Amino acid sequence: MQVIETVSEFRVAERSAARPLGLVPTMGYLHEGHMSLARRARADNATVSASIFVNPTQFAPNEDLAAYPRDMDGDLAKLEEAGVDLVFAPAPQEVYPAGFDTRVEVGEIAAKLEGASRPGHFRGVTTVVCKLLTIVRPDKVYFGQKDAQQCLVIKRLNADLNLGAEVVVIPTIRDSDGLALSSRNAYLRDGDRESALTLSRSLNLAREMHQSEILNAKKISAQMRNLIESEPRTSVDYISISDAETLDELDIIDRPALVSLAVRIGDVRLIDNTLLP
Ligand code: AMP
Repeated sequence: MQVIETVSEFRVAERSAARPLGLVPTMGYLHEGHMSLARRARADNATVSASIFVNPTQFAPNEDLAAYPRDMDGDLAKLEEAGVDLVFAPAPQEVYPAGFDTRVEVGEIAAKLEGASRPGHFRGVTTVVCKLLTIVRPDKVYFGQKDAQQCLVIKRLNADLNLGAEVVVIPTIRDSDGLALSSRNAYLRDGDRESALTLSRSLNLAREMHQSEILNAKKISAQMRNLIESEPRTSVDYISISDAETLDELDIIDRPALVSLAVRIGDVRLIDNTLLP
């Protein structure tokens, strides 16, 4: 496994890489969710690359950039074990050198949900993913359904700018108790786990209500909110039931829908989602 810190060295490696070439973009502190992307990339491609970059431009000034968990040595060991060939792990100044002054911004689909709650977040994501796709030039790029809106935003970016990668979406990996794996779970205090479980439990509740033919979105989201707020230290940022393609909010669930939510447990903000049906 080759670990590369500069764009120019990556370009050299990319030119001689056997195709197809897969890319798994990450912010590091890798868990089984990331590893399922890496394993799928290993199965699909002759060469597998992964990036580890905590992208400063997708964090607002009040967010957790400085505290974001990091473990470069542990991450490299995991990627090596998964059979990754190339790791791109640039310093911030390699990605954003002095004078850097370009932003890549997707429109409507990036303005909703996470975009509305975290202004500027997706501009940072799409700017860095656009750069990663043009530096690495993968045939396939792997993202997790855990960040459902991010997948839609990246697909829009990739299509609109002809970036030429196939965007592959991998199902959410969960702990045995249902909590979706996330690097941010590391921030949860002892005793907050039960509260954090309300995310997946409320999504299960939505699925059950939908299965028993309750199609009124407000009714479902109200019950989800009750369940979440019944545990201490929870605060709902949003609960959304939207068209799975456009993310337009639904009154009646009369088409494939995405149920997504963001909840604070103390000061840890977690997101999760499920598709209906
Ligand atoms: P991150 O390091 O949080 O930026 O995540 C890197 C990639 O891993 C993104 O495409 C995420 O959607 C994906 N990912 C994160 N958590 C999970 C999970 N629990 N299951 C599947 N994919 C995940």
